[in-house]
Amino acid sequence: MSQTENLTSENAIALEDKYGAHNYHSLPVVLSRGEGVYVWDAEGKKYYDFLSAYSAVNQGHCHPKIVDAMTRQAQTLTLTSRAFYNDQLGKFEKYACETFGYDKMLPMNTGAEAVETALKICRKWAYEKKGVASNEAQIIVCENNFHGRTTTIISFSNDPVARINFGPYTKGFIKIEYDNLIALEEALKSNDNVAGFLVEPIQGEAGVYVPTDGYLAKAKALCEKYNVLFIADEVQTGIARTGKMLAVDHEGVKPNMLILGKALSGGAYPVSCVLADNDIMDVIGPGNHGSTFGGNPVAAAVGIAALEVVKEEGLAENARELGELFRAELNKFIPGSSIVTAVRGKGLLNAILVNDSEVSSTAWNICLALRDNGLLAKPTHGNIIRFAPPLVMTREQLLDCVAIIIKTLEQFQK
Ligand SMILES: *Cc1c(COP(=O)(O)O)cnc(C)c1O
Repeated sequence: MSQTENLTSENAIALEDKYGAHNYHSLPVVLSRGEGVYVWDAEGKKYYDFLSAYSAVNQGHCHPKIVDAMTRQAQTLTLTSRAFYNDQLGKFEKYACETFGYDKMLPMNTGAEAVETALKICRKWAYEKKGVASNEAQIIVCENNFHGRTTTIISFSNDPVARINFGPYTKGFIKIEYDNLIALEEALKSNDNVAGFLVEPIQGEAGVYVPTDGYLAKAKALCEKYNVLFIADEVQTGIARTGKMLAVDHEGVKPNMLILGKALSGGAYPVSCVLADNDIMDVIGPGNHGSTFGGNPVAAAVGIAALEVVKEEGLAENARELGELFRAELNKFIPGSSIVTAVRGKGLLNAILVNDSEVSSTAWNICLALRDNGLLAKPTHGNIIRFAPPLVMTREQLLDCVAIIIKTLEQFQK
């Protein structure tokens, strides 16, 4: 079996089912090609991608500028490890620091690794700068968070499917309700060992929960009051997805640590990072942290190209405009609909709430019907369907997608 042999969709699914661990419940569609907002299956059927690989492909599939940067670098130098310098990483670090307004970057590969990195830096900062007694640091997190899949990260998840039978769990986390400033202040006030507050500016995996206006700015102010680091996980919300370069930009907040991943590469390659100013990042010295692949020259070349595309093509502005249009169009349909109760979101990170219980299969069946009608999306939690197309979409394409979604939902009207 060679890479060039063409499999039917049926055969591809059978192979994964037999030889792959069953750690995903994938929608039955086998993709073999992508371009911009479109993907094609193994039989050549074309779809709108309305997931964008969980917002990794904000710049669109196989963006020519990103592919060009990647292939040129792949033919020149792919990996040196950080045992040596490479001539691409510094350029990426400078570009990212200037883009997001930080002194320093620490490059990693996946989102979960970047979250782990931020947690480690936060703890070390607490011991060395804040004066927390050794091994006593606490980090505040939110209920229904999603920050990745490592042992430590699932330790502070409250999703039973992600957690059960993976213990013992890492200690040092305090869980509070999301979008609740009273709970945050209570947690900050009642414990002198709090080092940081880790938060998603919008809870994506949980079902696109947008907090109350002002929540992030007030949470940041509380963190300042109690000398605690405000850590924003923008792995999903960052890089123009919500209509600004970062979701925290909507409230003019500068996190003490910023975590990026996913669209930092435009989906071409695993690239993630943590950004912070010197007073925080300087707690990390040689040997304290690292990654064989983190900061490799291909990642660096891809990362610069991916950020340039976002700026050159005005993707934040486009996400803002198309997001408003999307919610306005769906809000015309929802009052007369028995199947959808609400649409919510910011920019092009949106979700609809299906009028059925969390354990029903209605949302899954809607996604199967959307697939048949040429649009790919996936339920997040039971009865919530996330809609997050690539940000390179045009107005005409978006209206075409709205028509597909409404036509499909009408098939499910009771
Ligand atoms: C996807 C995601 C992660 C984890 O990223 P991986 O690359 O899958 O490890 C972390 N935080 C948020 C908010 C995410 O959406």
